[in-house]
Amino acid sequence: MGEISMKQQYKSYEESCAFLKACVQKYPDLITVENIGTTWEERPILLATISLHVAYANLKPALLYTGTAHAREWIGHELAVDFIDYLLSNYQNNPEIVETLTHNTLYIVPCLNPDGFEYSRKHFSFWRKNRRDNGDGTYGVDLNRNFSVGYRKSTNTSSNTYGGPHPFSEPETLAIKKFVDTHNNITIALDYHSQGNVFFPAHKFNHESEIEGTDMNSLCANMNYHIHKITGRKYGINRGKPPTKLISGSGREYYYEKGILAIVVEVGTRNIPDYIQNMSESVDENIPALLFALNEARNYSSSAPKRIENFNIESFSSNSCHLVWEYKEDANVYFEIYRNLNNKKACNQSSLIATTCNREFIDKNLKSGTMYFYYVRAVHKLSKIKSAYPPKVKLKTLLGEDEFSRSIFPHSSDVGYVAERSPEANHGNFGIRSLKVGVSRGLGISYGVMTFDLSSIPKDAIILDAKVSLYPLNRVSAKIEKYGEWSLSIIDQKSIVNIRDFDQVHRAKHIKTIGTSIPSEKLTQGIWSHWDCNDFEKKIIQQELKKGKMTLKLEGPTTLPVGRDSQIMVFDLGYGNGGGGLHYRPSIDIKYTVPSNEVSIKLQNSMTITPEDIIHESLACGFNKDDEKIYAYMSFDLSALPDPDESVITDAWIEISNTSTVKKSVDIRYNVEFIDLEEFSYQDIKDRERIEFIGYEVSSAELGSKREHHFIFDQYSRLALEEQQRNGDEAKFIIRPTSVLSRDHVIKWAYKGKKAAKLTVKYIKRRKFPLPAVVNLKTTIENKLIKISWDKITDDDLVGYYVVRNRWHTPKNPFDGVKLYAGLDNFTFDNFGSIKMDKYFAVFTYDNVPNYSQGSTIEYKA
Ligand SMILES: [Zn+2]
Repeated sequence: MGEISMKQQYKSYEESCAFLKACVQKYPDLITVENIGTTWEERPILLATISLHVAYANLKPALLYTGTAHAREWIGHELAVDFIDYLLSNYQNNPEIVETLTHNTLYIVPCLNPDGFEYSRKHFSFWRKNRRDNGDGTYGVDLNRNFSVGYRKSTNTSSNTYGGPHPFSEPETLAIKKFVDTHNNITIALDYHSQGNVFFPAHKFNHESEIEGTDMNSLCANMNYHIHKITGRKYGINRGKPPTKLISGSGREYYYEKGILAIVVEVGTRNIPDYIQNMSESVDENIPALLFALNEARNYSSSAPKRIENFNIESFSSNSCHLVWEYKEDANVYFEIYRNLNNKKACNQSSLIATTCNREFIDKNLKSGTMYFYYVRAVHKLSKIKSAYPPKVKLKTLLGEDEFSRSIFPHSSDVGYVAERSPEANHGNFGIRSLKVGVSRGLGISYGVMTFDLSSIPKDAIILDAKVSLYPLNRVSAKIEKYGEWSLSIIDQKSIVNIRDFDQVHRAKHIKTIGTSIPSEKLTQGIWSHWDCNDFEKKIIQQELKKGKMTLKLEGPTTLPVGRDSQIMVFDLGYGNGGGGLHYRPSIDIKYTVPSNEVSIKLQNSMTITPEDIIHESLACGFNKDDEKIYAYMSFDLSALPDPDESVITDAWIEISNTSTVKKSVDIRYNVEFIDLEEFSYQDIKDRERIEFIGYEVSSAELGSKREHHFIFDQYSRLALEEQQRNGDEAKFIIRPTSVLSRDHVIKWAYKGKKAAKLTVKYIKRRKFPLPAVVNLKTTIENKLIKISWDKITDDDLVGYYVVRNRWHTPKNPFDGVKLYAGLDNFTFDNFGSIKMDKYFAVFTYDNVPNYSQGSTIEYKA
């Protein structure tokens, strides 16, 4: 294959070497270039150092950039050259670059594999390895398998991932190893590869979160923020979930083991993309992200403020959250608090909610039943250097007093995909494999299908919020190019008998597409995809409740452009091999309330209380001739209301009607007061203990224009009403007149007959308080897994136990960590977890609201 013009737009290695040397000539104070090694084919491996006053570069915290370790992944080389050019030619007029290069150093190896790169350019586009002569007729070692951490010895020299005869056997890996080993100012290492538009932060091969996990996820999320600004794209961030296959002998893990935050950035959707259309876009979006990352280097240096400790939730409610943390006394430091609604979002100005010098913060105005993610950083007041992040804290606020919620997962037999070209296989695509949705040559069109059992939600429920969530899997092979959208639709169940039949799914009648279709560039691996329902869509789901289940169809693009093989997104099913487990199942989260019942309670006792007299069976108030107040007293028997611990009053009001005519000239206003009173003398009434005013006052003018008046209870008064009922007391009220110029005037209110004063209460049946927490929580080892067990609770209202794991702090709510189990067994296993690591487990009981109990927590010591 000869060189074609598209490829000539890419720089050759020789050109980039010449470029670097020219830069040194032009910007001697900003850049130096050194040869860190020589390849098998005698090419120099060039590393550029860029910093303001570059002679002092090694004294500053540094970011290490490596590109094109894999020969065919040209973006690394191309982006490096363009980034260097951007820094050097803009530093004079861009204060951000000046600031960044003043405090940080960039070490950049545009191409770690020059021999392979040139071979790929000139001879074989899809060459991956270097050009070692293996001596057996084969060539090349995969440099990203030739580092020492997790190195795997193999004799399969023809393999594309052959790791070489021994770790660091190759001049390229040995060169970068020596450089990293002698530059302990490196705090961040970014290794640029293609493809996938995804970040792969380092792992420690143990499937548990690491102390640097939040740092690396946030670094990627913040880089994503800059990428998104340029092209609207978001890269996947794959950390926190066990990778299906851990890479052996990669550079990333070597750097990470040395304490460096190490991330592989997979750019683009092809190794050698259309230069003008795709490559320039990839370069453009990565430059501001790189500049940001470079300025983060100093935040991870030894001179940065220390990481905050014991960041946790002290308490929370349906609309607030009290965060606490520990930090040694330091007058030079303040704290920044970030809040996000989704995982892996940026921690920057867009999410900064507070700065404080305290070791606590109360966040208010939160939404009920909603997930929040919190982060905190210490910041040095003068230098503005920030600390690393403590592990993030997750919270789901309590539900509102009349709200219920359900997270519903499809049964394994009710979720899968159906592909056009493999009708026989479709039956087996349910409940075990991942969900493949889109189109490819092999599968043809492929739809995801899932049926949710809605029978745990009352048929007449009113849906307040509904959200469907799916987790796109971490697969480099699941490359998604920039075309097509993925949309989710409710299917008419009458139009489909068998959800495993492609033709039926293909032809199924759509009732409504829900949420917003997600275009390819926003469908990011390793970050949950959510489809949020609007009010109209919630109404449609409400209709589906009557059928007890709902079927959704997920579809992607259905045609392939010329020359393309596949546009398939792979979602986790959470079931079977290759699934990430319970935590990653597709789900629908529904927040709802139920229609209320209404009771009208007749007046129990009425009195008119004057300075002289108490008149029973009478309801009048106003002012007597001596301008003294006359009070109307009324009480209601609450025994018709349901048990206050099993119900919630959602609305309450008193209706009173005046029966007398009103003098127009009089300006008297009438209040209804909720009172607590045992004795009924005039003096007792005057000294009454007021609970709260009910509603607003009415004026004598309003009494003239209409007869019935409603006094509506606020939330506090509703709670007081429940309290009276719990104590077996009547609810007692007075109607009290007020006037600036009191007059001899009395208003009569109806106390008998149809118009008689009445108390109307609306309520729903709902448990108010959580069940008790479990006791006797313990951990044991069984079959090399940690088993968590506890004593059963006997209570008819128990729906289950919810078990969560957190490596760093005691989970104060069921959502702060990795979900291990929800159900009625009194034990579970820490599947995927390591028995060699310290961690915390918490068990919460829950009822059908659900109200979650206080967590019972246990610290596991390896
Ligand atoms: Zn690669």
